[in-house]
Amino acid sequence: MDYSQHKHVVIIYPHPDDESFGTSGTILNFREAGVPVTYLCGTLGEMGRNMGSPFFANRETLPEIRKQELIDACNVLDMNLEMLGYRDKTVEFESRDDIAQRLKQFIVDLGATLVITFYPPYAVHPDHNAMGAAAFEAVKGIEPENRPELWATAIINNRNEVLGEPDIVVDTESVFEKKLEAIKAHRSQAEGMLSKMRESSDFIGEYESALQRLQFESFYRIDVDELDE
Ligand SMILES: [Zn+2]
Repeated sequence: MDYSQHKHVVIIYPHPDDESFGTSGTILNFREAGVPVTYLCGTLGEMGRNMGSPFFANRETLPEIRKQELIDACNVLDMNLEMLGYRDKTVEFESRDDIAQRLKQFIVDLGATLVITFYPPYAVHPDHNAMGAAAFEAVKGIEPENRPELWATAIINNRNEVLGEPDIVVDTESVFEKKLEAIKAHRSQAEGMLSKMRESSDFIGEYESALQRLQFESFYRIDVDELDE
């Protein structure tokens, strides 16, 4: 894939860490090709139940901790960050049109040629689906000749049965060390996953085991004119 064909990539997810687990290798490939990337992050994930392992956060300190983790991860990924300030676990109750209008303004102002978001309703968490739906609406609201490309991540278990093979599969091996660093920047979230991995019977070392699980990032190419509604 020729990453340098894009002028600006906009990532739209609701939570700090959505970008690092699912899309950071792709982001790094774009950055290596000199393409600016901006993350529009919906919430601070402040209602999350992971408080670190061992615990170092509590309900009161979690928002600030996750905000700093997000900033650290974006520094690793060399990506711009805009925090949209919605409340965690309630994005689905916000006006989709209002979110879409804000997203559209960012997309247009930044001159995005590619938007990456979650694929509703195939993204499991209600915030994921709500943010993805607003992003789809934002792209659809841009006149066709100026519309950016739209890629979407689906995370349901039987994804390929429901949606078919992904249209785009990115191999992240060449940037995987940094991808792992970005994931680990989300300390309060990543430790649980990493310790589960270390304890699993097929553990072959942190880097190798993480690579086995997270080497490939998959996306569906969305044509907003073909969506129902
Ligand atoms: Zn999430």
